[in-house]
Amino acid sequence: MITHRAPEELLLGYAAGSLPEPTALVVAAHAALCPESAREIRRLERLGGGMLDALAPAPLRADALDRALAALDMPEPSPAPAPAATPETRALLPRPVWPYVKGDIRNIAWRARGPHIHTAHLATETDGHSAFLLRVKAGRAAPRHTHRGLELTLVLSGAFHDAANLYARGDIQVADPTIDHVPIAEAGEDCICLVALEAPIRFTGPIGRLANPFVKL
Ligand code: ZN
Repeated sequence: MITHRAPEELLLGYAAGSLPEPTALVVAAHAALCPESAREIRRLERLGGGMLDALAPAPLRADALDRALAALDMPEPSPAPAPAATPETRALLPRPVWPYVKGDIRNIAWRARGPHIHTAHLATETDGHSAFLLRVKAGRAAPRHTHRGLELTLVLSGAFHDAANLYARGDIQVADPTIDHVPIAEAGEDCICLVALEAPIRFTGPIGRLANPFVKL
């Protein structure tokens, strides 16, 4: 069961299409695992569509009826082909992530970031936003850090906790510059997360601080 859902303002931003790609990817992946968030996005999209209709009534073109009748005779446009993915990929990654790994988790380009941490880059916007997969070894901690902007962390497998909460598959953690934390993977299974950052994190622990100039997660 999902206990940590995306906050309303993120769902609203997603429905309005105003989020940068990395943030939108994490929200879409969360919604693929959380029926309640998916329903709320659809509700907000309908609401937004209704508001646009009310704000800007489109003038009917003179030939609108002819065009509508002609359209009835046309074959239904075929839906866009669903992205394909291997069974292992489907088991780990929500559908919105499949295109980023070409439908196969064997394409994930993991890079070691320390003895217990791997990351794999997925998407970056020019203004410093990024999305990546994060794998923390079972029972191990990520370095203590704070944030220069919003950090969204969606759990895909395993689970992690920090001082405040426990997060499992489908849960999303929202952190910002007011939060300084040490996420720790639960024992038994590596924790794999999908993360979006507005800006690189800042390490605040005694060892991590040394890495600040060199590591840009
Ligand atoms: Zn964080």
